[in-house]
Amino acid sequence: MMNRERLTSGLEMMGVAFDQTAIERFEAFHAILDEYNQKMDLTAVLDEDERIDRHDLDSAAPLAKGLLLPDSKVIDVGTGAGFPGMPLLILRPDLKMTFLDALNKRILFLEDALRRLGLKAETLHARAEDAARMPAHREMYDAAVSRAVASAAVLQELTLPFVRQGGTAIAWKGPGVQDEMVAAKRAAFVLGGTVRGVESAPVPRRDDWAHCLLITDKTGKTPKAYPRKAGTPNKKPLA
Ligand code: SAM
Repeated sequence: MMNRERLTSGLEMMGVAFDQTAIERFEAFHAILDEYNQKMDLTAVLDEDERIDRHDLDSAAPLAKGLLLPDSKVIDVGTGAGFPGMPLLILRPDLKMTFLDALNKRILFLEDALRRLGLKAETLHARAEDAARMPAHREMYDAAVSRAVASAAVLQELTLPFVRQGGTAIAWKGPGVQDEMVAAKRAAFVLGGTVRGVESAPVPRRDDWAHCLLITDKTGKTPKAYPRKAGTPNKKPLA
């Protein structure tokens, strides 16, 4: 059983608003994750408190900072089992969320979970490099979010092409982010972005984690040459 008190007190400590429906949906989502984890390798199996901290509370970080405006159109690039996208949508059902992953079994899981939770969202089985060239997705989002997918410079190429001018790309990072900043700034510059900075994103009761968000503003258009073909951003990072 999910420890409701840990989740609700954690959200309160972060200053993130929630209602009873959200808590019930978190509980249902955990149960669906457990069900799938028994038949496939979806997420690392964590104890229940760590799952709340590592997945649910960590994913909610941009809400604590007011980074996602009402009704924003958001894409979660490399969502895996739905992080950070699913906690964001559970807490903010007004968001128009697109879940993107290159692995179809994860997309099928998310479609089932969304249906069972009574949430509406778009799912996309594709490589980010390919999807960002599709007119329906290129520069169509107010924000792109991404956690644990690639280095900061590579992530810029996987996320910024989805973001409209005036929007933001938000990458979840750990204490090593400062070592990635020069490369992240150079890559952003090439892709029509400007790094705004790094904001600490503490998870309640986990003072040793030092999680943070790398925030990049989309200040210009992404040149047509980007993203490069699938696999190239990882093999030859821009910076
Ligand atoms: N974001 C989730 C999280 O924080 O738990 C999942 C992280 S998992 C380590 C990385 C995910 O990114 C995998 O599901 C993988 O399929 C996806 N991924 C990696 N590169 C990708 C790409 N170029 N396009 C789409 N998905 C990608």
